[in-house]
Amino acid sequence: MYKERVGLPKEILTPILASMEKDRPYLENLVRDLIRCYPTYIEDGDGIKAAQSIVRRELTSLGFNVEEVHVQEEIIKNHPLYTRVEDWGSQFEHYSPEQNVTQSGLLHIDDQAPTIVLNGHVDVEPVFDPKTWKDPTLWRSGAIIGDRIYGRGATDMLGGVAGLLFSLRHVLGNSLGPRLNIVFHSVADEEIGGNGTLKCLINGPKADWALIAEPTGLTISQSSLGFHHFRAKSWGTPVHMSQASEGQSAIDVVVEVHNRLNGLRTKLKQIIANEPGFRKSNVNPLVTGRVAGGQDPAVPAEQCNLEGVLFSSPRQTRQEIKNLLDEILVSDPPLNASISLTNMSFDGANSSDRTIPDALIQAGKSLNTSLAESGFPSPCDMRLYTVTGTPTTIFGPGNLTEAHAPNEFLLRDELFVFSQIIAAFIANLSKT
Ligand SMILES: [Zn+2]
Repeated sequence: MYKERVGLPKEILTPILASMEKDRPYLENLVRDLIRCYPTYIEDGDGIKAAQSIVRRELTSLGFNVEEVHVQEEIIKNHPLYTRVEDWGSQFEHYSPEQNVTQSGLLHIDDQAPTIVLNGHVDVEPVFDPKTWKDPTLWRSGAIIGDRIYGRGATDMLGGVAGLLFSLRHVLGNSLGPRLNIVFHSVADEEIGGNGTLKCLINGPKADWALIAEPTGLTISQSSLGFHHFRAKSWGTPVHMSQASEGQSAIDVVVEVHNRLNGLRTKLKQIIANEPGFRKSNVNPLVTGRVAGGQDPAVPAEQCNLEGVLFSSPRQTRQEIKNLLDEILVSDPPLNASISLTNMSFDGANSSDRTIPDALIQAGKSLNTSLAESGFPSPCDMRLYTVTGTPTTIFGPGNLTEAHAPNEFLLRDELFVFSQIIAAFIANLSKT
């Protein structure tokens, strides 16, 4: 039975931390090199391939056996957790889960030992307009300016990937042998639903725990929110203006749908705030982003479409969300409208296993850093691990406010502290 060691003797940790301190430029160069690959999911896969070759180089040098993960298209496309990206519009019509490279590295110690997965996604959100950045070359630079590293993916989440690799480099290179098997899932396609992680899970091995280094600002997250794209359609009666009566236009109907969605936003906010980890969160759980309809300004609109997205609590299922949406249409008076969820719909997740969070807290203590806990106010690949029975913790450097934003940056110190905590965490799971 695996038991976590309580605390790590200073004589073990001190030299690890000292060697990390000396090697800090290596960490920052690693982030910079990954950012310069611009591994976005939307292009031909070359950027992702380049980033994966850096990850492979690092893992291989540490003794990991690294392989690209391939799953037959027919198998993955029929998997209940598969995200049908190819249905997301013309931009994705040629999507294949095989295009962007996902790889898995294994440091196998012992068949009897437990297995931990470290997960990082190398795919980043595209930069559509470099001019929105304060310097139009900054997005692909990995430039260090003052206390920050700039570039697309610095926070979400090439910093986290680099931090994990850097920690392993110093722990495993320091004559500590782990007491557990370590699997590194270096995945693509997280930003478009998680098919990279799904491939790793289909291929196995199944792990006892997973840790995902998404940007949590160094708080420990044992839950994540769900995300759902909805589409409402409303109908009216197109008649000559002189014959039209009040409320007959699909626009009148959609305005009422919108009003009721505002009520649902308040309700969702309360539901989410009742979840442990989200009590202090101020997340806006519902956004409407697109409305279209009608033909002739003088004729009541026949049809109107309204689209938006909403967050669900870690426990709410897709079906419960669908029911809440349907309810707003039938409440008095019923509306001539329908609402559906598209397949861009992901459940939240929850983990109650305390092994990893407690070990992280312990690692923080050995560095005189007290780590807080809160929920992760976004969906991520956590749900894929938890649904398949692997307790998962999200813990990483950087703040979600920077993710996908112009001038994305990561604080250099925060990245370094993250690496130190992970190093102490892994060292604690290792034997002398
Ligand atoms: Zn991310």
